[in-house]
Amino acid sequence: MTTSVSGWLDVRRWPVWSLPPRTVCLLLAVELAAAGLVVAGLVVAPPGLTPVLGAAGLAVLGILHTELATGIERVRRRVAHSSYFDLSSVWTFTAALLVPASLAGLVVLAVYAHLWVRVWRPAGAPLFRHVYTTATVALAVQVAGRLLADGFGSGPVDPLLSYPSLVLAMVLYVLVNQVLVACAMSLTAERRLAWRDLIGDWDDHVLEGATLCLAVLASVAVLRAPVLVFLVLPPLLVLHRAVLIRQLEERANTDAKTGLLTSAAWRGRAARSLLRARRSRTAVAVLILDLDHFKSVNDTYGHLAGDEVLSAVAGALLDEVRDGDLVGRFGGEEFVVLLGGLPAAEAGRVQSHAAAERIRRTVRTLTVDVGGPDDPVPISDLSVSVGAALSELDGRTIDELMQIADYALYAAKRGGRNQVRLGRPEGMARRHTDDG
Ligand code: GH3
Ligand code: MG
Ligand code: MG
Repeated sequence: MTTSVSGWLDVRRWPVWSLPPRTVCLLLAVELAAAGLVVAGLVVAPPGLTPVLGAAGLAVLGILHTELATGIERVRRRVAHSSYFDLSSVWTFTAALLVPASLAGLVVLAVYAHLWVRVWRPAGAPLFRHVYTTATVALAVQVAGRLLADGFGSGPVDPLLSYPSLVLAMVLYVLVNQVLVACAMSLTAERRLAWRDLIGDWDDHVLEGATLCLAVLASVAVLRAPVLVFLVLPPLLVLHRAVLIRQLEERANTDAKTGLLTSAAWRGRAARSLLRARRSRTAVAVLILDLDHFKSVNDTYGHLAGDEVLSAVAGALLDEVRDGDLVGRFGGEEFVVLLGGLPAAEAGRVQSHAAAERIRRTVRTLTVDVGGPDDPVPISDLSVSVGAALSELDGRTIDELMQIADYALYAAKRGGRNQVRLGRPEGMARRHTDDG
């Protein structure tokens, strides 16, 4: 305990300093802005007893909510990869609607401090990230709250009486949060993030919308029949469970080592892309890629280094394809890629060849530093063999395309590796064994 306290006191050792300086600047700016607005609001217009009691009640409800959902929330934090909406918006947005903005900021502080102790810290999350999230939510309630009249402050304002400002407050609340989180993500990410990573997916927004709807109902309950606010808790817990199931499903579709789609998930999505391509009279290409002589990487540098190479190659593949394309780990040191939106027939063949060549060249020039930042060991001289097949020209189903791409891959290996082959090779019937 003493060591951990003295560790905390040593500011220079805080993990936040490992972030790029511009990210640290963003974090500090947002946190100072949030704290400054809260303090300034409290000093300029000290709240009366009623709003203080209202804010305290909402903080207690938020804490009760976390306590009831702690088990589910811990699992959710462990399985969540991407942007992550917090269901405690039910209480923080209610605070934005009902109490002065600065007090709403304090409700955020209380609810998130409790979340840290009960959920995030046990899950091993870095404190700086949680502090930043807290600051973004505190800023979001300031913006949404200042848009609306203070409920408890100047005689309760019925949220139902002002639909346009209510909707605007919801939109601003989501926007402020999302933009600030996206800024931090894009400044921290080691590689270019897809739009989808930055804006979160559709399901996340539906969840946030549902949470804000519950917040509005909670506000109405608080104003009309306060005891009924407890009725918000059961649907909220059901929402937690629904989200957990979706996140577990997402986790099951993700290869743990590389973060790519699993083979089964890739196949399902690829089949859907193929159907869409057929309807829009475009083509898709299926690539199967196999790292050359990967066994010797393991034999020379060890399996952990091999794993880092697999992960780096996965990142390189993601960088080289477009947002809608699909990249999966087929198994071992083999990857599958679906390139969508290609023109049909020979033009598609030419474009898929160019894309496959680009990927091959990228892997060829890749240098992966393994073994930690203090003593990095560069691994280069990697190469990949690629087999490709184009829809309609080579097959009409994903299985047929994979079969042809696999034949082509075998031909690339036989041809000397580090090369791309397209379509069914002359005279090739089946791929039995590799020539190792
Ligand atoms: P080729 O050019 O013929 O493809 O040679 P290769 O050495 O890449 O192929 P081979 O099939 O002989 O060996 C594949 C190697 O990939 C052996 C296996 O240990 C390694 N491998 C498979 N999955 C993983 C993994 O998850 N992590 C690591 N580190 N290695 C893996
Ligand atoms: Mg292989
Ligand atoms: Mg191989």
